[in-house]
Amino acid sequence: MNRHRSRTLGDRPLSPETLMMGYGYDPALSEGSIKAPIFQTSTFVFKSAEDGKRFFEVAYGLRERDPDEALGLIYSRINNPNLEILEDRLAVWDGADKALVFSSGMAAISTTILALSRPNDIVVYTAPAYGGTEYLFDRILPRMGVETVSVADADGGEGLARAVGEAAARAAARGGRLAAVYVETPANPTNQLIDLAAAAAAIKALGQAEPPPLVVDNTFLGPLWQKPLQHGADLILYSLTKYVGGHSDLIAGACMGRADLMGRVAEMRTICGAVTDPHTAWLLMRSLETLHIRMERSQANAVELVRRLRGHARIEAVLDAGGAESSPGQRAIFARQCSGPGSTFSLRLKGGEAEAFRMLNALRLFKLAVSLGGTESLASHPSSTTHSDYSPEAKARCGIGDNLVRLSVGIEHVDDLYADLEQALARIG
Ligand SMILES: *Cc1c(COP(=O)(O)O)cnc(C)c1O
Repeated sequence: MNRHRSRTLGDRPLSPETLMMGYGYDPALSEGSIKAPIFQTSTFVFKSAEDGKRFFEVAYGLRERDPDEALGLIYSRINNPNLEILEDRLAVWDGADKALVFSSGMAAISTTILALSRPNDIVVYTAPAYGGTEYLFDRILPRMGVETVSVADADGGEGLARAVGEAAARAAARGGRLAAVYVETPANPTNQLIDLAAAAAAIKALGQAEPPPLVVDNTFLGPLWQKPLQHGADLILYSLTKYVGGHSDLIAGACMGRADLMGRVAEMRTICGAVTDPHTAWLLMRSLETLHIRMERSQANAVELVRRLRGHARIEAVLDAGGAESSPGQRAIFARQCSGPGSTFSLRLKGGEAEAFRMLNALRLFKLAVSLGGTESLASHPSSTTHSDYSPEAKARCGIGDNLVRLSVGIEHVDDLYADLEQALARIG
C-alpha cells in the first residue's frame, strides 16, 4: 500500500502537530474518507499468487525489500493499515527510524527484551523501574538464563558506568554478552532522573564493535518533554496507555528506534503475537491529534499546582522532575535532557500512612486510581499499591515512604484542582 509520507511543504519541514492529521494516510485509498477507516480484518486478499509469494519473501526475510517496495499486507498479527499509519505517526515525534505498536506497554517491554537477549547474557537496568518491568527482570529473565543487574544510581552516573563495565566483562567471561542497558527516567514515583548521555558514554567506553543498545522507557515525559534518541538512546519504549492514549480508555505500548534493532523486535512481535488491534490503533490515532494540547495543558496545570503547594504547612516536599527541591545534579540533568517536567509528581506529606489516607479519602475531583497521563486527575498511594511488594529496605532506598502521594494532573481547570487538594490537605487534621 502506498501512503502519503511527505514531511515537508515545499522546503519547509512540517511539525509533528501538523503531521498527526494526515501523515501516512491517503484518503483516495478509502473512498475519500477523511479519517482512516478501522480495518477490522484478520487477513488480506492477495491480488495474485505471485503477490503472496513476494510479500512472504519480505516478511520472512528471505530477500531484502526493494527501496520502493511497500510491505504487502498479509495478516493482522504481522501488519494492518491502522497499525502502520499509527506507527509512522508515532515515529515522527521521537525522530525514530521505525516504530512498532503492541497490545500493552508490558508487551512492548517484554517482547523487546526477549528480542535482545540470549542465555548467558546480562541486562543492566536502573531502579526503581515500573513494577511489571522489575518483575520481568527479577523473576522471569533469570529463569531463561539471563542475569539482570539493578542499579540505583541517580545523579552522577558513576554507579551505572561501573555496573555496565563489570557486567560486560562478566558476561564475556562466560560466553554471553551485555545484551542491553535499560533505563527508566524519570523514575516512578519519585521523579529521579537518570543521565542518558552518561549511560550512552558508559556503553561507548566498552569499545565493542556491536555495543549493547541503550533502551529507555520514555512513558513519563515522552514524546513531548524528553527525546531520548537525541541523548544517545537506541530504542525507546512506551506505555501508550498513559499520555499518548491519554483518555484512560485503552491499553497499548510501543517500541521505536534504530532500523536494524527494530527488525529484531518486529520478528519477535510477529512470533509472540503481542501486537495491538485495529480499533485500539484507531483510538490512538485520534489521541495523537490532541497529544500536544493535552500534554501542554496538563503540564501547565501541574507546574501551577507545584508552585502553590510548595511550602504548604502539611507538605514536607514536592517531588517534581528536576524541581526546586531536587539536588543540583538532578537539576543539571533536567536542564540538559528535558524540555518540561510533565504532569506527574508526588507529595511527601508530614506524617505517615494515616495522614496520606486521610488526604486521599478526602479528595473529590482527583480519583483514587493507579495509572497516569489521562485527561482526568488521579491520586495514588504507591507504598500500599503499585510499590507494595518492595521490601522496607528497597522502599527506603528509593524514597517511597508511607507518606508519599502521587498525583497525575489532568486538563481540568487548575483552580478547581487546587481547591480540591487544599481542602483534602486541610482534612489531614
Ligand atoms: C504503565 C507503565 C508501563 C506498563 O504499561 P502497560 O500499558 O500498563 O502495560 C511501563 N512503564 C511505565 C513507566 C508505565 O508507567
